[in-house]
Amino acid sequence: MIRIGILDLQGDVSEHLEMTTRTLEKMGIEAEAVKIKSPSEVADCQGIIISGGESTIIGKLLQEEGIDQVIRDRKIPVMGTCAGMVLLASATDYQQPLLNLIPMKVKRNGFGRQKLSFQQEIEIFDQKYPGIFIRAPYAYEVPPEVEVLSQIQDKVVAVRYQNNLALSFHPELSDDTRMHEYFIKEVAKCVE
Ligand code: GLN
Repeated sequence: MIRIGILDLQGDVSEHLEMTTRTLEKMGIEAEAVKIKSPSEVADCQGIIISGGESTIIGKLLQEEGIDQVIRDRKIPVMGTCAGMVLLASATDYQQPLLNLIPMKVKRNGFGRQKLSFQQEIEIFDQKYPGIFIRAPYAYEVPPEVEVLSQIQDKVVAVRYQNNLALSFHPELSDDTRMHEYFIKEVAKCVE
């Protein structure tokens, strides 16, 4: 059975758990979503979701607990939203521990003060998605091997690289399960 772990260190974890559970029910596949905190719980998952929150805090805890190493060693697919996107990157404009799973730079709180939160429709795979942006990061200096899925002007807000998916916005705060569905399908392909 596939287990999707929602990293429960800090941030909007319950929203992701609820959304993932709902998505799995809808998809009707043999899988479960659980909150995870320890390296051994992480190692038991086939896919991991890192929520929004405070990326500095989540990153420090990831490192202290040795979870970053488990994710890297086992090459567990990760979907990161907002702070989760920051953590997937290889560099940010802050000094902070990162997972370094996607070669790209990320600017934290990249949409400026006057727009700390906003909602904007974005396009991914030729479909429209509700984009909820809360003190959102964006990616830049994205090399060609990283696939850009969406951008707002020159700001990259969704990418995929290997089995990892990084989103600036919060699909778990909308009613739209498609991003979670997409990630779960990718995880399912990896365990086939
Ligand atoms: N600005 C936060 C950070 O970079 C992310 C905000 C969020 O996850 N909603 O850690």
